[in-house]
Amino acid sequence: MNTSPVDFQANLAPEEAKLGESARVAGAMRGFAREIGALSALRLDACVHCGMCADACHFYIVTEDPQYTPVLKVEPFKQVFKREAGAFAPVFRWFGLKAKITGAELARWQHLLYDSCNLCGRCSLMCPMGIDIAELIEQARRGMFEAGLAPKELYEKAAHQRRTGQPEPSDEPYRDKLLAIGRRFNVEIPLDKPRAEVLLTVPRTDIEHYPAAVAALVRVMAHLKADCTFRSDGLVAENYGYYAGGRDWQREISRRLIDQAVACQAKVLIVPECGHAYSALRWEAAELMGKSLPFKVLHITEYLAEALEAGRLRLRTAQVGATAFHDPCQLVRKGGITAAPRQLLRAMGIEPRETVRHIGYNICCGGGGGVFDIERAATLRHRVVEEKFHEIDQTGAQTFLTTCSDCRRTFDDGKKRFNWELTPGSLLELVAEHLQGG
Ligand code: SF4
Ligand code: SF4
Repeated sequence: MNTSPVDFQANLAPEEAKLGESARVAGAMRGFAREIGALSALRLDACVHCGMCADACHFYIVTEDPQYTPVLKVEPFKQVFKREAGAFAPVFRWFGLKAKITGAELARWQHLLYDSCNLCGRCSLMCPMGIDIAELIEQARRGMFEAGLAPKELYEKAAHQRRTGQPEPSDEPYRDKLLAIGRRFNVEIPLDKPRAEVLLTVPRTDIEHYPAAVAALVRVMAHLKADCTFRSDGLVAENYGYYAGGRDWQREISRRLIDQAVACQAKVLIVPECGHAYSALRWEAAELMGKSLPFKVLHITEYLAEALEAGRLRLRTAQVGATAFHDPCQLVRKGGITAAPRQLLRAMGIEPRETVRHIGYNICCGGGGGVFDIERAATLRHRVVEEKFHEIDQTGAQTFLTTCSDCRRTFDDGKKRFNWELTPGSLLELVAEHLQGG
């Protein structure tokens, strides 16, 4: 399989491609030096080269290619930091001890940081020295963005979302699509209420590909008699600024949702079935805004498990046979949301069949962190999803569910590629189909 080097020039947005090589290298040096920081460089110095992060990363597991060792994906940034911003930077530069990076290296790093990393955090979990490699890769992506080296698919979607609120042009605005979903599934969409306790958001993936999941959300909220609303000016849950590494763009995209939650005085903002949207809002938004958010951010699974415990959510038994469940990496490793989906499954009489690597140690679907959107990464991510299919098949499951629509889409795409027998489904949709009295 040919995975590198990539032709990164061919994969840049027009605005990025305008930068000449020297401006690009200067931007990269500046960006990496600022983003990596002394603390991160020190952390990297703690690496004892044990290789455990390699065995943790599904891209290494499926290829056994050393370039996919997580810590090696960020090693060059440590060198840049030492040359540009570390205590001995002038010495390094004077004696030419750390060479300036080249365009060719930047191209290789684009492949390593974007195409072959889902920001899933499994390597960080396994590192005995406590090095948060996934966080370092996030920082490195920010340096790449500054150097005009974000893959064009991510850059263009981030730019569009920043300008318009939705990541791509569509035949009709998402607000209208949302209302059309309501008509199609015969549910009343709560929209643009001036005040509501709960602000609902929606994955663009659901609007475009899984409209039944949008209807399921509305049905469940109606069952709970929740005072909730979508808002036309802050609908989309995903944050392409986060995927691309554009910190300021990420902030602006998050601000759109935050402003709407504040405007309707929401106490809770619900992130539906989307893992990275949850991380961007739950963990990153407050930091980017420089202050705590005046509302709680909950994933829909957490919200429903709370309602179940409070006796507000009442479910019927589901006759779906042996069921396997995929934990989206952002929800289990960053959010610790392990019990909530299992509580919901058990409330429907389902005892989930766990894969070999499961719950916090689950491997990613291969599409997270924007990888699904990067066309040239398809061959590599297919190898990851094939590994997942193998694990799921081993459980003997007849039904397969997850709580992230991007994972679901990655699995659906893999299903087509490998003629996989199971059909990836949504836990939220199953809940909506088994509401007591529903
Ligand atoms: S965050 Fe996940 S995909 Fe990225 S290097 Fe670590 S284990 Fe691999
Ligand atoms: S697991 Fe940690 S200590 Fe071991 S090689 Fe990876 S980064 Fe270094």
